[in-house]
Amino acid sequence: MELDKMDENGWKYHGEGNKSIVVSHIQHSQVLRFLKYSTEDLEHLHQTSEQALQDIHNIVDFSTHIMRPLLGEINVHHGEPVKLPLDFVKRLALRVEQERPESRTDKVMDQFSGWALCLPNLTKFPDHHREHRPPLCIEIKPKCGFLPFSRQVTKEVKWKVCRFCMHQRLKVSSGVWKRLSKYCPLDLFSGNTQRMYLAIRNLLDEPQNNLKIFRDGELIYGGMDDAGQQHDLNKLTQQLRSYFFPTNMLIQDPPSNKAVLNKLSQVIITALLTSWDAEGPTQPTRDYVPVGRDQCHASLPLLDCLKAHQSLPKDCVLSKILQVQRLDDLDIEGLYPLYKRVERHLVECPEERTRLQIDGPYNEKFLERMRHCPSEDNGSIEYAVGKVHQYRVAMTAKDCSIMITLTPCEGDEILGSTLEIPHSKPKFRSAVSIVDLDPKPYESIPHIYKLDSQIVSNYVKSMQSEP
Ligand code: ATP
Ligand code: ZN
Ligand code: MG
Ligand code: MG
Repeated sequence: MELDKMDENGWKYHGEGNKSIVVSHIQHSQVLRFLKYSTEDLEHLHQTSEQALQDIHNIVDFSTHIMRPLLGEINVHHGEPVKLPLDFVKRLALRVEQERPESRTDKVMDQFSGWALCLPNLTKFPDHHREHRPPLCIEIKPKCGFLPFSRQVTKEVKWKVCRFCMHQRLKVSSGVWKRLSKYCPLDLFSGNTQRMYLAIRNLLDEPQNNLKIFRDGELIYGGMDDAGQQHDLNKLTQQLRSYFFPTNMLIQDPPSNKAVLNKLSQVIITALLTSWDAEGPTQPTRDYVPVGRDQCHASLPLLDCLKAHQSLPKDCVLSKILQVQRLDDLDIEGLYPLYKRVERHLVECPEERTRLQIDGPYNEKFLERMRHCPSEDNGSIEYAVGKVHQYRVAMTAKDCSIMITLTPCEGDEILGSTLEIPHSKPKFRSAVSIVDLDPKPYESIPHIYKLDSQIVSNYVKSMQSEP
């Protein structure tokens, strides 16, 4: 990328979340990720774009020094900070503004600092040849995959119904979404293929912001932030058919929509259960980690799934994410009093904020502080800070996205790593990576505590009013 020759016409709107806007290059397999700020923040930011630079550095440090070591050898992407010419950024911001969904416009793209992160476009392959079938990319934001196991949980329903399923009720009653999603993260993380099928089927039925499908880098399914948007599964299956069935069969005996979606689910499940390292898939593992007997009462899979063995291959992407999520072992109910302990300590000794690395830097020392946190509460500030740090890391793992990129291998040619779907053709060239590993602010803990009790009371109320 030649920074002095940046042309906004070479880039287009790709997507966004709560914290950032992503634009993709129209030819190269590259994206730029810009931070977003609320308008009040921006007035402040105008004076000092140092904040944006600090945020960008924190993101890179947090992914590199904290999340990557914890997630192990897997594709973790944070990107390279780049300083772009301000006039380019301003014109680009103008260009993407009209593409942005209405529901996201409460925040604006940072066009004052000039800083952004440059990443590979993970919806494509870096070396894809035009003559090959365009790559497919399935993005899943799986959310929290376990029921709290902390003794400090006071509300009984939290033992039975997972946070995602309860939160759905609140989101629908407050109008964030029009329809309930039946997706339950516990099914996806179960390692049981039947439950995983169900989870993916439910994601396809109501993708919300948990599922997106890209073809040739273009969003073709999900991800529309408009609450009322109906997703067209028929259209999707038409676009996907040729990826999973040979051309001659498509003409003679066209597969049903169900058959196409089954294949898609099968490929996704295989990718999620394959053990990966930084290079690609590794030998199938015999090492499994039990995922507990977690079963969410809001999701009702077939009875025999429940009896089945539930575990995840040790090095698959789901088990790596779950392991980090489980650093939240006190639940917000157990964590909140420790947060208050830290707050009291900081009132007495404000200079301790730096030593305790409350706002970073996110370096090896931060990781050590977290790892060496005493296992029992000895009343110390070290314990409280260690637990707060662990909780924030777990929050990041509850909010990240998995990108599965695929393309059928043509003929005998094999480029990069391939996935073989049992009893099925074709083989797929594939890559799995994790994105969105930003640090979650220390200051958001009181909000999470309040939200937790809102989610629970709303859920209990909505259950009582149901026949
Ligand atoms: P959230 O609200 O989930 O925290 P965020 O604001 O932190 O989201 P990201 O999730 O990093 O932002 O990016 C927003 C979207 O942009 C992603 O959901 C994904 O679709 C797309 N995206 C992000 N990084 C890449 C990448 N490297 N390649 C392709 N697409 C990407
Ligand atoms: Zn659930
Ligand atoms: Mg995201
Ligand atoms: Mg994020």
